[in-house]
Amino acid sequence: MAKPKLVRDNEELPDVARAAHIGLLTLKATGCSTWKMLVESPETHARVQLTAEQQQLIDEYPYVVQYLRLAPLSTLLICTNCRRWVLASKNPGKNAKCNLMIGCAGTLLYVSSMPARLKAEDAE
Ligand SMILES: [Zn+2]
Repeated sequence: MAKPKLVRDNEELPDVARAAHIGLLTLKATGCSTWKMLVESPETHARVQLTAEQQQLIDEYPYVVQYLRLAPLSTLLICTNCRRWVLASKNPGKNAKCNLMIGCAGTLLYVSSMPARLKAEDAE
């Protein structure tokens, strides 16, 4: 059997966004397009290995994770200022202004389904 894949998520994201990022990467690693599909096929769990911290984030945000989908993409948009979030399928682009709360001056951050880039010190 193939070695389980590790999930490299972006640890700098707010917790709820990290949970979404870990969720999407888990779907990718297991070849499932929806969370429902993943939950209903326990054999796919062996294809991915989460750290205790990653598993805890998934467990903390079940109401986010259950709506994640790869195809078509359903991910999370979160405001860097008010921390409100919505599910989204499209990237609003860099520096998109927050429209989740009246008068908020924050920008929206789009959680991608791509793994975090290796930091320079990890890459050696
Ligand atoms: Zn905001």
